[in-house]
Amino acid sequence: MRMLNRFELLTPRERTILTHLQNGLTATEIAQGEYVGLATVRTQIQSILMKLGVNNQLAAVAVANRHDQEHWRCRNCQEVAS
Ligand SMILES: [Zn+2]
Repeated sequence: MRMLNRFELLTPRERTILTHLQNGLTATEIAQGEYVGLATVRTQIQSILMKLGVNNQLAAVAVANRHDQEHWRCRNCQEVAS
């Protein structure tokens, strides 16, 4: 599956989390900023890794950075700010 299509599997919530990871926030900081529990953020991060087909956060951030450069080609994730 193409990377862009994988990115489109993410829920808006998961994309928000991923954006925070791109900005260098830790899971703890994301939990505090989003007013949710750390376990919830960790679960969402695991879901992101699974959907993107990567096994760590650094790889997920790399995918997200690449996605942002190619976002103009996306057909199904227009709701994401470019
Ligand atoms: Zn996109």
